[in-house]
Amino acid sequence: MRNVAYFIQAAGKAGEKDFLALKQQAKKIPEIYSESCHQLANSFLFLVKENTAKKLVVTGDSPLYQELEGKEQSAGDVRFKECPLSEKNSKIIQKYFPFTRPVPLSKYKTTIGLGDRLGPASPGHIRLLKKKKIRPVLAQQSKRELDLTGRSFRGVLSDAVWAVFQEDYQEGFGADGDHLKTMAGIKEALAEGYTMITLDCSEHIHDLKETDSGEIDQVYQALPQEKKRALESRFLGREFTLKSGETLSFTPDDLRLNVAIYQEAVDFAVHVFQELIAPAAGGVDFEISIDETTTSTHPLGHFFVAAQLIEAGVKVDSMAPRFCGEFQKGIDYRGDIKEFTREFREHQRIAEHFGYKLSIHSGSDKFSVFPIIGRESKETFHLKTAGTNWLEAVRVIIQAEPELYRKIHAFALTRLAEAKKYYHISADPAAVPPVDSLTDEELITLLNKDDARQIIHITYGEILQARDAGGNYLFRDDIYRCLLENENLYFQFLHDHIGRHLEMLGFDVN
Ligand code: ZN
Repeated sequence: MRNVAYFIQAAGKAGEKDFLALKQQAKKIPEIYSESCHQLANSFLFLVKENTAKKLVVTGDSPLYQELEGKEQSAGDVRFKECPLSEKNSKIIQKYFPFTRPVPLSKYKTTIGLGDRLGPASPGHIRLLKKKKIRPVLAQQSKRELDLTGRSFRGVLSDAVWAVFQEDYQEGFGADGDHLKTMAGIKEALAEGYTMITLDCSEHIHDLKETDSGEIDQVYQALPQEKKRALESRFLGREFTLKSGETLSFTPDDLRLNVAIYQEAVDFAVHVFQELIAPAAGGVDFEISIDETTTSTHPLGHFFVAAQLIEAGVKVDSMAPRFCGEFQKGIDYRGDIKEFTREFREHQRIAEHFGYKLSIHSGSDKFSVFPIIGRESKETFHLKTAGTNWLEAVRVIIQAEPELYRKIHAFALTRLAEAKKYYHISADPAAVPPVDSLTDEELITLLNKDDARQIIHITYGEILQARDAGGNYLFRDDIYRCLLENENLYFQFLHDHIGRHLEMLGFDVN
């Protein structure tokens, strides 16, 4: 750390004209993140890696210096503060450095959600996306993920702020309150500065099929007369021509089915928009998710929902239908590729007609359909990934500390039943070889197999929150320590893996 102390002395005495030379100098000191060098008024700031944590160093007396919480120290005759990367400090950084505030991203053609269950992955994502036209949503967690990982909206955003500051990423990033089902959850995310809301309508969707005629009738008849009449005159006896030239029409049975499935969700989404999204200052990207159903979304159902939302003045920025086949967590697409292509094309036409993007959920690792998504959407889409970034973190642990991984793995197997309450997977634990019988080299390839991938993918909450009898975390601290110690390996894995996603979607990664 002697080099760091010298650097602090130089920074403390530096004027504005010395900034670039100092940044160059920082590149030669491994503990310093050179892109994190910033100058504001009399202060010079940068991030440094110490043994167990990253810290913000700030020199020079300024309002910013005064506001940041940290320990005052000196290097030679230079006073400086060493500050934790805390939530409180992240807010002060956001106040002085506007590029660290999330922004709405709907004006960009291609956006990618890079939910990070742990928090330290974002610098790796930024290094991949810097200078590319794809814009990242760096903070993206659902309520379920926050509960399972023991994190908060603010904590997740704070981690993204530090990543953006560390990498000097000035092109704009998003923050998505993902899969929110309640007004309270949305309010909470908006209050923390989130710039995208994904409304999960599943609790207002009646998961019905054509054959459920009794229930369809029941829901339909329960609607007020006036509402039924309005819907019938809106949808029946008409042909809807999409901008692509394709036409759609509803039979009375189609209408009754779609009303029964979606009408309550439509009304809910309109209400949420009017109450919370439209009044939000600065603009918010609004995504409608109708994907948490047991059957795939029929294009007619998609049209039925969208037409009403648009007519009610809802600014829809993206829509997540459920596509045919299976989008299971962390593994490739399972299903009929031809059928997927046909359906995706129909959903795409509807999205284009109304002027929003399709959003592809559980978008991690769906390599066999990525070329179709990229081509058919003309690279206009939002793709969400989350768990796959966790799996890359686990691959770092396997490589760097195989013994730690063996313990995590054994534990995960004992908690599979718990995790399956939240996630649907088809993994067979019996198909995963006992890790004690595998050599370290064999262990490294373990996560190339679907069964092991899925088991580790869904047990993250159990793994991160497990404690011993004394209340200490069993794995959490070791996981964060291991990732910080092997940060470059972690970023390399993320670069390669998410890079492969982009490549298959039709982007030039290099
Ligand atoms: Zn979803």
